[in-house]
Amino acid sequence: MGLLSQGSPLSWEETQRHAEHVRKHGILQFLHIYRAVRERHKDVLKWGDEVEYMLVAFDHEKKRAQLSLIGEEVLHTLQEKGERVNPNHPTLWRPEYGSYMIEGTPGQPYGGTMSEFNTVQDNMRKRRQEAASVLKENAALCTVTSFPRLGCPGFTIPESPPTPIEAGASKSLFFPDEAINKHPRFSTLTRNIRHRRGEKVVINVPIFKDKNTPSPFIETFPNDDGEAARAVKPDHVYMDAMGFGMGNCCLQVTFQACSISEARYLYDQLATICPIVMALSAAAPFYRGYVTDIDCRWGVISASVDDRTREERGLEPLKNNRYRIDKSRYDSIDSYLSEGGEKYNDIDLTIDKEIYDHLVSEGIDHLLAQHIAHLFIRDPLTLFEEKIHLDDANESDHFENIQSTNWQTMRFKPPPPNSDIGWRVEFRPMEVQLTDFENSAYVVFVVLLTRVILSYKLDFLIPLSKVDENMKVAQKRDAVRQGMFYFRKDISKGGNAVVDGCGPAQNGTETDAEEYALMSIDTIINGKEGVFPGLIPILNSYLENMEVDVDTRCSILNYLKLIKKRASGELMTAARWMREFIASHPDYKRDSVITDEINYNLIWKCHQIAQEQVECPELLGVGFNKAKYTGTKTDAF
Ligand code: GLU
Ligand code: MG
Repeated sequence: MGLLSQGSPLSWEETQRHAEHVRKHGILQFLHIYRAVRERHKDVLKWGDEVEYMLVAFDHEKKRAQLSLIGEEVLHTLQEKGERVNPNHPTLWRPEYGSYMIEGTPGQPYGGTMSEFNTVQDNMRKRRQEAASVLKENAALCTVTSFPRLGCPGFTIPESPPTPIEAGASKSLFFPDEAINKHPRFSTLTRNIRHRRGEKVVINVPIFKDKNTPSPFIETFPNDDGEAARAVKPDHVYMDAMGFGMGNCCLQVTFQACSISEARYLYDQLATICPIVMALSAAAPFYRGYVTDIDCRWGVISASVDDRTREERGLEPLKNNRYRIDKSRYDSIDSYLSEGGEKYNDIDLTIDKEIYDHLVSEGIDHLLAQHIAHLFIRDPLTLFEEKIHLDDANESDHFENIQSTNWQTMRFKPPPPNSDIGWRVEFRPMEVQLTDFENSAYVVFVVLLTRVILSYKLDFLIPLSKVDENMKVAQKRDAVRQGMFYFRKDISKGGNAVVDGCGPAQNGTETDAEEYALMSIDTIINGKEGVFPGLIPILNSYLENMEVDVDTRCSILNYLKLIKKRASGELMTAARWMREFIASHPDYKRDSVITDEINYNLIWKCHQIAQEQVECPELLGVGFNKAKYTGTKTDAF
């Protein structure tokens, strides 16, 4: 989830005292990196995925599924058996926010040959097997985005009651601090977000109103000192801790671009794709034991780390803070980075003017300077006593401190100092899928799309405010079938598809409202005669011109078939499938409540599907979940 420094974490007051220092040196560190590698080009495509997992314990007698707080031990064992003994080990394991979570990536990045696509599923399967092999009987590794009963009484094993006290990290009425990873970064982030904000975080998710759901739906909380009563909204499921957001799992992809300008171009192009792929990956309809009216986790995480004060949120006049800030640190991007994106930058951008001027005076162009100056309006959230004074020419912790706690849909990643890593871009909106097949399909779809964008110089840009509107639609229940999304009509114009050069600002250019239209996901992905060609048909025509061995082609076609059928509604998203599972459960009382037993049955079923012990044609289709690795490598792209 970001930079993992070791040492003694400072309190919020102490961290705040060093905020200017961190920002100043963060910028100096960025400038060192920029100067050293701005001209770097001809880096080859490398890419990798990140899958986040939950560790679940099943009690088949009591019919319970609980989150097992063994993440740190499991991680330690996996690292000891894997990367510590073999630098070429095929998997890498990292901690995640929940002490019931771990994150897995391939041991080495994938390279730029088509046949690599045929190894992704194999590697994900290896990860799942490897982690499962160190778990006890009745424990499992699950790729569910949001655990339905997260925050309900007894949702963890060992059971840990929440301790809503000031001295704790979350002070949550529901989410115990024991469920937060023990690495000090995570509890410090949690506490400092709460202290900076001046109150607990507030997450209100609209409840799904079923036949017997009380209306209005209003909850009261016995241990509340008044804060929850003030924060909760009628007809909403209320949550009060970072864990309700960062304790969810996702699927991310990072690519190395050949140069900084290619990275900026891909960053922009993919930003427009984020809401579309997020809706296609929807897998998170349940929160704190209730069926809700949203399908994706995004807004929940956004609220779960919203450290803005009342002044910054515009609820009080500015007195102690410097800016009004429109979004949480976890949100969609606020500015395009490539030259062609300039005229579509229509969101008010709050920037640190001094930092902007400094960057420009050092020769950074307007678009990049404003991007960095926008990220740097934030305070550092964690700081370790031993890591205050750094060598700015050779370290980048202060830069990474701010950068890695801006959790946006896309992340533009400068190379680490003195490394052979190039400029990278991270695609972050996707929800994790139940099976390795689906996760491979989404990852391969996104990576292939980057190849097509680059080869055909495609242009998806629309005003960024429209992308933000799409983000809102994408999270709604059944957005994939019912949502309408702004999308560019003619993506082949190439007018904005300039990869080279990042010139000065060109303010005032009007965008043509005719350039984009509202489309369904089916139209965007599969195309519609006379309206839009469709991304899958474009990918298919690209593939026809590529040298691809038969087996890889077969796997890719199966992946694209899944995406195609999800987009058309022929196959269900995980969110829809889970909703239907609950609705048809004999114990479900149509009151939006997910009981322990329903939760158990659902998670057990998810586990069986992931283990390929049962089929789930509504979700996966029939007969195409069979990618196998062959290993032919003659087909570089
Ligand atoms: N788990 C977070 C999510 O679902 C992402 C954390 C990270 O950046 O690794 O988006
Ligand atoms: Mg992660």
